[in-house]
Amino acid sequence: MKVDFYKHNISDTEIQSLVKVLNGTILTTGNEVTEFEEKFANYMGASFVVGVTSWTMGAFITLKALGIGKGDEVITSPLSFISSSNIILQTGAKPVFVDVKEDTGIIDEDKIENYITKNTKAILPIHLYGQMANMRKIRDLANKYNLYIIEDSAHAIESIRDNIKPGQLSDAACFSFYATKNITSGEGGAVITNNKQLADKLKLFRLHGMSKNAIDRYTSPHYQHYDMELLGYKCNMDNIHATLLINQLELIEERLKVRERICQEYESAFKEIVGIRFPIVLEDSRSARHLFTIWVNPQNRDEIMWSIQEKGIGVAVNFRPIHLMAYYKNEFNYKANDFPIAEKIGSSTITIPLYPKLKKEEIDYVINNIIEVIRKFNTDF
Ligand SMILES: *Cc1c(COP(=O)(O)O)cnc(C)c1O
Repeated sequence: MKVDFYKHNISDTEIQSLVKVLNGTILTTGNEVTEFEEKFANYMGASFVVGVTSWTMGAFITLKALGIGKGDEVITSPLSFISSSNIILQTGAKPVFVDVKEDTGIIDEDKIENYITKNTKAILPIHLYGQMANMRKIRDLANKYNLYIIEDSAHAIESIRDNIKPGQLSDAACFSFYATKNITSGEGGAVITNNKQLADKLKLFRLHGMSKNAIDRYTSPHYQHYDMELLGYKCNMDNIHATLLINQLELIEERLKVRERICQEYESAFKEIVGIRFPIVLEDSRSARHLFTIWVNPQNRDEIMWSIQEKGIGVAVNFRPIHLMAYYKNEFNYKANDFPIAEKIGSSTITIPLYPKLKKEEIDYVINNIIEVIRKFNTDF
């Protein structure tokens, strides 16, 4: 049997809507983007949504729009995809890492204050695997030190913690619609905010700071001149991508329920097995169940992972900590043991298949084979 790491849910409905867009006139930012933005705002309970080409570009223009740059520091977690720190560097600011919690892999809110300096401008928490950081504590810190909060919500569209959703206690929350995310258009992203000024600036920043987009220029009876108000970038979502997301948004709760059930099957199968652990979902938290990761003995992680792969099961590693990537080590002299908990998780984690299309026999196959591999290696940790 072969169990893919991920399968998307693009169906005939999306294909039909794509055909409709391709048969229309406007391929770039237009009605479908507006429709997606309105529906996403409604789902998230946010005032404004700005559709972009990726999480990376959305978060980057958000930092730029908030005026973050050279000399500034942004507090974040090293246990994430590299883009969450790269965008900080790209503004000229410095990412300042804070270690994570042992049971969840989420930034340790009790350690953040130690890292706040007079240069700190923002906190960029990562909502890991589908579970949110402690936004109430982070909001308190941001109030105390007058900091911005930008949430990495790439894993967290459906998340709720302590009755808070992404975007509700922050300046902005950034989402990804990359190929393996809970909803996807291959590539894509969005920023949500309740701040009109910020939303307006992001709309300018996503399209060269231009005062009129293509639609305004060409759909009115007479050609409209554009002006350029700000030095912007180029990362506007287009109708082709937006139309793929609209239908997936309708089914998002239904699909979360399916992933939740799969996760619970994994958890009940693995919880008795010596040599397998996994992150917990906190009591006050609804996980978006984006990724399911198991933790195994770091001494054998790669061999265990390869043995699982040899059974035909797709795997990934989310994540090897950012501070130990060659570039970060060279630029900032990070070394092993700087952030021991993130490192421990990074060297013990294996992500296994999690998506609504997984069939019962595939789930059983994954469970049985992982247990067999772990028993063979016989290493507790
Ligand atoms: C996927 C991901 C990103 C980057 O998203 P893109 O849309 O590919 O730019 C950022 N942060 C996390 C935690 C991610 O998983």
